[in-house]
Amino acid sequence: ETKKSLNFIEHIVEEDLANDYSIEKLRFRFPPEPNGYLHLGHASSICLNFGLGESYDAPVNLRFDDTNPAKEEKAYVDAIKEDVKWLGYTWDKECYASDYFQELYDWAVGLIKEGKAYVDSQSSEEMAIQKGTPTEPGVAGPHRNRSVEENLNLFERMKKGEFDEGKHVLRAKIDMASPNMLMRDPILYRVLHKAHHRTNTDWCIYPMYDWTHGQSDYLEQVSHSLCTLEFLPHRELYDWCLDQLVSNDKLRPKQREFARRNLSHTIVSKRKLLRLVEDGVVESWDDPRMPTISGLRRRGYTPESIRNFADTVGIAKRENLVDVSLLEFHVREHLNKVTPRVMAVLNPLKVVITNYPKDQEEWLDAENSPEDVSLGSRKVPFSSELYIEQEDFREEANKKFFRLKLGKEVRLKNGYIIKAESCTKDKDGNIIEVQCTYDPKSKSGSGTEESLRKVKGTLHWVSIKHAIEAEVRIYDRLFTDENPDGHKDRDFMEFVNPDSLKKITGYLEPSLKNAKVGERFQFQRLGYFNVDLDSTIENLVFNRTVTLRDTWAK
Ligand code: ATP
Ligand code: MG
Ligand code: MG
Repeated sequence: ETKKSLNFIEHIVEEDLANDYSIEKLRFRFPPEPNGYLHLGHASSICLNFGLGESYDAPVNLRFDDTNPAKEEKAYVDAIKEDVKWLGYTWDKECYASDYFQELYDWAVGLIKEGKAYVDSQSSEEMAIQKGTPTEPGVAGPHRNRSVEENLNLFERMKKGEFDEGKHVLRAKIDMASPNMLMRDPILYRVLHKAHHRTNTDWCIYPMYDWTHGQSDYLEQVSHSLCTLEFLPHRELYDWCLDQLVSNDKLRPKQREFARRNLSHTIVSKRKLLRLVEDGVVESWDDPRMPTISGLRRRGYTPESIRNFADTVGIAKRENLVDVSLLEFHVREHLNKVTPRVMAVLNPLKVVITNYPKDQEEWLDAENSPEDVSLGSRKVPFSSELYIEQEDFREEANKKFFRLKLGKEVRLKNGYIIKAESCTKDKDGNIIEVQCTYDPKSKSGSGTEESLRKVKGTLHWVSIKHAIEAEVRIYDRLFTDENPDGHKDRDFMEFVNPDSLKKITGYLEPSLKNAKVGERFQFQRLGYFNVDLDSTIENLVFNRTVTLRDTWAK
């Protein structure tokens, strides 16, 4: 395997290894908040962190950043674990910030004793005014110089549940004039009378992100805590918090930042994706139109395609919008290698072969994949009445139309050469049937001279009496705008595509009768499809994962 060039995070790690770190000290983590399902943005972070783990043979923790019981649920924890596993990664320790609530509390008490934290009992509006602006220093509030005793007493009573939410908060006493607004006495704890999915009602004060993240990294001895760029201004506070507890014999974690992954025509924010679910724009978090890992899985994406996409795009120091068609490219590339080809007709037009005996049928050999002979072959039934796609027949057409037209020939895939002789129309002039003749000696693979005869077009088809019906779900982009989240004065919901899902009836070759949920296929000439979760033996349901070609390219 050839070594890829290093990204800037790997350069940071390499530099640390060259200086003060030994390779055994490396440890990474992926730290989701269990307040929603993972999306394609998280996939970048997962691939980055677990990828580093693989490159350096270092452990990677899965850490649930569960400090806000108002928004978090066990169901999200389970879904996140399933998604990380499905992507193909194995974590070392499964950790929860909530496991550290006692240590975090004890450390906070220590801060109070050292005069580095105080209880503030003002409203959030009052505190916000005193904080100042980025260009003007803040001013001290009236509680900033409370005595240690009073602070200890109030903080303990906050913990005991004596106060309503919002009455008191614990703040770090750092610097109200700091050029970094986050250093102006940030809040460390707030009262929340909410049961937590793991600690239940043990706590009614919960630590803030900044008082949790670095501490958790420290407790787990994470060497490199990688987060997205919006946390860059938090780094000073991250370091301040670590200064309060790091001892010399332990590793000091480092926060480093990379740019968020943004994708065209896509939303990557759990909060916003939740709105799509709650407002009924999509059916669920794993709706195949969702950019969630579970939605993509249900849609038929492979873990390899998502990982290859993340690898190709890499990570950046600055945000940019990556074209979602690059993801589609990767799923096509992978599905082309691994899926068997089958035949299905989605927009049927009846073809009658007039010189083929009416009650006769035969089973033709069909290769499952030209890419992979190990996928073997199957039999497909042929008879005198077939469906082809409506788009594949015209009464008249110019020379560039390599499909069926009156008086001309095409080959039926795996079958015979047929010639269109006449057609029948309904009273509105729509073509409802094409009468054809077939060349009995032209059977594919039969070795005859006629079987080798080249004709311009090859069509997919199904035998009507053998075909099975299935519901086929055709998806389009969920957002019509390239950057639905990028408009200052407009809500992303305004750009929802009203036609993102079409349900149609497809006619499938009978080999698909026992297709199992999740199984993937190429429907020849139509795209890649898989069996949806809603599918049953009686009611088969397929999703179109992606078309064969990029139909959006100009
Ligand atoms: P969201 O706004 O969707 O809730 P988040 O960053 O708040 O995103 P977390 O659960 O806290 O979600 O994220 C876990 C990890 O995934 C964090 O390290 C975060 O930086 C990273 N992450 C989240 N979204 C993206 C993204 N779009 N691109 C890259 N990394 C991301
Ligand atoms: Mg977060
Ligand atoms: Mg969030």
